Amino acid sequence: MKGKKIAVCGGGGFIGGHLVRDLLDKGAAHVRCVDVKPLDDWYQVHPQAENVVADLNLRDAAFTAVKGCDTVINLACNMGGMGFIENNKGLCMISVLINTHLLMGAREHGVKRFFYASSACVYNGDKQKEKKIETFLKEEDAYPAMPEDGYGWEKLFSERMCRHFREDFKVETRVARFHNVYGPFGTFEGGREKAPAAICRKVIHAKMTGDHNIEIWGDGHQTRSFMYISDCLKGIYMITDSETWHDPINLGSSEGVSINQLVDIVEKIAGIKLKRSYNLSAPKGVNGRNSDNTLIQKVFGWEPNTRLADGMEKTYRWIYDQMASRYTKPARAMAAAR
Ligand code: NAD
Repeated sequence: MKGKKIAVCGGGGFIGGHLVRDLLDKGAAHVRCVDVKPLDDWYQVHPQAENVVADLNLRDAAFTAVKGCDTVINLACNMGGMGFIENNKGLCMISVLINTHLLMGAREHGVKRFFYASSACVYNGDKQKEKKIETFLKEEDAYPAMPEDGYGWEKLFSERMCRHFREDFKVETRVARFHNVYGPFGTFEGGREKAPAAICRKVIHAKMTGDHNIEIWGDGHQTRSFMYISDCLKGIYMITDSETWHDPINLGSSEGVSINQLVDIVEKIAGIKLKRSYNLSAPKGVNGRNSDNTLIQKVFGWEPNTRLADGMEKTYRWIYDQMASRYTKPARAMAAAR
């Protein structure tokens, strides 16, 4: 990425904030960071980047965003944890406009590389019915198509759009299917947060208030894998820069855990044991999902390898600091005030 002119679309978001920082550190010639949110709401704002507030659903904004760039990394979409995507299917699907307009702009302006952030939510639901950490999903398991309704369909359609723009219009597209990315500088409250951050927040809240109860969505036996942000960035670079591989490829950790085990990890970091209750009617997604990393190992000789306990420790510390810095009052007064 050194010396390149790069547009990071959705750069005000969680992954985008980390990516822009890292691209600047790596010596990118120019980083244009575009997001629809007002600057005050970006997770990270890097003054050395060209920071643009624009709605990439709109054709003109998307064309302007990619103009003059060698590389486009599209992370922009409307998304969140299960609570958000199960209740906002229409909003999730509208993001198809973002990728479509960015691809059209990339074609028009001769962009050399176009990276699209897809998701494990494209995988066929029937293959994710078992609550086992061995529910490894291979790339071909996306078909026959039966992805997560709304969000997953948008991702699968946009993957196909990338493929056909490459085949028909020679836009060099690359696609990764991210599996649950986590780390500092992410959402941990408000409804869009995902399980690792939500569990950290709940455990920290229990620790700060002395109310040693935790509510878990589902029965706690559903399984997932979680990829630390630094592994995500490394994978984005490898896949974007690849001269040979252009089909959708898993980018995720293969260290599967049940949600109960994830809570165990966070409790251990916090040095606390909580009384668990299970909300069986809360949105919980598929029963089991893990990343089969055979292909990424074969193509790149690497797979995401940050241990979950290590990544969660850093994430927990960051969320703890955010929550602690907000309140100067004693813990119980804080809880009452909320
Ligand atoms: P995020 O929500 O933090 O970032 C996405 C950003 O896109 C947000 O800042 C949002 O404001 C912006 N955006 C939305 N609509 C836009 C528009 N019309 N114009 C411009 N910007 C717009 O999400 P993230 O976790 O950083 O995820 C980045 C990408 O990776 C997304 O495409 C997501 O689907 C994909 N992904 C993420 C995960 C994960 O666990 N974080 C898992 C699978 C896939």
